[in-house]
Amino acid sequence: MVVECGNSESFKINTSIEYRERKVCEVTLSIKWLAHASFQIKTEGRIIYVDLEKYGEASEKADLILVTHSHTDHCDPSKIKKVRKPGTVIIAPEDCVSKIGGNVKTLKPGEETTIANIRVKAVEAYNYKRFRSPGNPYHPKGYGVGYLITAEGKTIYHAGDTDFIPEMRQLRLVDVALLPSGGTYTMDNLEAAEAAIAINPKIVMPMHRWDTDPEEFRKKVEAKSNIKVVMLQEGEEYQVV
Ligand SMILES: [Zn+2]
Repeated sequence: MVVECGNSESFKINTSIEYRERKVCEVTLSIKWLAHASFQIKTEGRIIYVDLEKYGEASEKADLILVTHSHTDHCDPSKIKKVRKPGTVIIAPEDCVSKIGGNVKTLKPGEETTIANIRVKAVEAYNYKRFRSPGNPYHPKGYGVGYLITAEGKTIYHAGDTDFIPEMRQLRLVDVALLPSGGTYTMDNLEAAEAAIAINPKIVMPMHRWDTDPEEFRKKVEAKSNIKVVMLQEGEEYQVV
């Protein structure tokens, strides 16, 4: 498919009236599940990672690294160091910044920035029903974030570690939702399915699954919506078209 886009080769088209400049490019947006909540996204000729951690193979240097929160299964400074290059933009919550070191930006929920042609907006991610001890949620509001990543005219939502929170109902025009479904610290399969139905993306991928069976998630989503459920294996890549 060929579409207009901003960051590509341009050429002239000779019409009978005038020369018109038009930019075209191949749509390329791919999502690779590395492990747990860890993904590599390729778009606009750029490499984006979300929630790099100990597991999952990441070797290509990053243009953009996003971290949802500072738990070790979402933020691994040594893994980040491995794929960081001069010019890599890193966005992480404030309590991750010193762990990672160097120049790291922070986006609070509702804030956004654009890096090259990639728009990144932070959104809420928190527990209101899962507690480490009474009154002490695993992920209190304000502790971490989720991200909306928009490139090539498509929006990917990485939910971070979160319950099915009311803010998800406000999300609009999500093409691909990456939702935690493993329970204990986040939504379980049935809650993640409810969240998917509320968000209504074109495609949903369960992640942060632990050892739960994502078929439970798939069945509920498919029974109540037309959302396409894509269940990757670790290391598997999916082309979004
Ligand atoms: Zn966490």
